[in-house]
Amino acid sequence: MAVPLRFSAQAPSSRLTEIIPESDRVEELSDSDDEYEDMGTATVEEQAHIAYLDSVRTPIRDTLETETSQVQDDTYGVILPYLEGNPNDFSLNAFGVPKLQREKHVAMLKMVLGDYPGKFAMMDASRPWILYWGLQSMTALGLDISGYQKRVAHTFSLAQHPEGGYGGGYGQLPHLACTYAAVLSLAMASGTEAYDSIHRRALWHFLGRMKQADGGFTMAEGGEEDIRGAFCAVVVLSLLNLPLDLPQDAPARKHGLTNFTDGLGSWVSQCQSWDGGISAAPGNEAHGAYAFCGLGCLAIIGPPTETLHKYLDIPLLTHWLSSRQCSPEGGYNGRTNKLVDGCYSHWVGGCWAIIEAATTTGVWNRTALARYILAACQEKKGGLKDKPGKHSDAYHTCYNLAGLSAAQHRYVYDEDINRGIGMGNLGAAYHWKTDGLYEGKNEVWDDGDVVRAVHPVFVIPYMAVYECRKYFEEKEGF
Ligand SMILES: [Zn+2]
Repeated sequence: MAVPLRFSAQAPSSRLTEIIPESDRVEELSDSDDEYEDMGTATVEEQAHIAYLDSVRTPIRDTLETETSQVQDDTYGVILPYLEGNPNDFSLNAFGVPKLQREKHVAMLKMVLGDYPGKFAMMDASRPWILYWGLQSMTALGLDISGYQKRVAHTFSLAQHPEGGYGGGYGQLPHLACTYAAVLSLAMASGTEAYDSIHRRALWHFLGRMKQADGGFTMAEGGEEDIRGAFCAVVVLSLLNLPLDLPQDAPARKHGLTNFTDGLGSWVSQCQSWDGGISAAPGNEAHGAYAFCGLGCLAIIGPPTETLHKYLDIPLLTHWLSSRQCSPEGGYNGRTNKLVDGCYSHWVGGCWAIIEAATTTGVWNRTALARYILAACQEKKGGLKDKPGKHSDAYHTCYNLAGLSAAQHRYVYDEDINRGIGMGNLGAAYHWKTDGLYEGKNEVWDDGDVVRAVHPVFVIPYMAVYECRKYFEEKEGF
């Protein structure tokens, strides 16, 4: 039933004057086909959304106008119509929130894993990432990806460097980011052909060349040393059950290091910034994706119940992470004073499961996050995105869905789980489980909107993680 709009809700811009007085805003930056229109009435669902938004505490603001405060105001103007109403005209769930548009996202993802026109040659070095994002998104939506098994093994056999590690494609130099995406994709593809395509001994030597005297890892030979390297290296070492002794030709041995984990926890510790977040390297600005890398690294080198408190100031980090959730948008930004962006649904939202393993409680609003993802980040033509007005892509589809999974499921670290695997090197990450769905107040998703559980550290399906590790634990030699 349609009911008359309240005065404050006649248009997004009029509601904004309540939240942000005296600001100049753009009316609509959306690239969607259907512009948001003031229909003069609000449905029952829209009335409920407006009441919800009224209940959200608005940001504390000062009177100083800057370029960033202007851009933030513009962003409210773009996003609020999607939280108050349904400009995309999606079908709604029982809570009046757009349903997860599965069929549209699946259709988009099949294109992601298809052929590309010539101009995409500039993306060639990102090919391992595109495969990872596409495959992980498909599994999150419950698709069977076994049909891609042979293609994935073949693609990565060409991208593997003779001296170890993976590049973006044939003939490209090896890089830890490509190697991370390749190994996760091969683990998802699963099967002997995919597993055995990995030259583990050469890869072990490559990782040895990345290890630095101060405990961290570079992304490539002569490349930058940052926390992505620390995370990507231990993900690969752990999933493939590689020896933790540094190879004899590892340059770090000349500095007295003998093990891949030597100095690593302390190096991650140095990346915690003054405000509690985690940065790419010591002394840099904190960033949401680096927070996930730091936590993920620590959750692999030992039980998070021990390593997190040993190497990080967890109360300060919790404060920083909780400050990333934007109000009234509900999604996360990646840095202080930056805009909300759907990919941080995972990079920050995904931190909470790991934090909760060490603290028993997270300080995040799961339903506000899910509301932002479902209402504001679904592209009308399929795929998910940063925010209204942006285009969907494989990257934002993957990390919005991973963030939605984090919001919907309760991931628990339990050392009694999977006692049979993870007994050896870097085995802590094999003791996670899903303890059902989150059931809290103000839910905004139906059963049909639930995505599949994702391993909170490796960000691929649980089964892919456990089968891969088990295979390499049982395999003799390397
Ligand atoms: Zn983004």
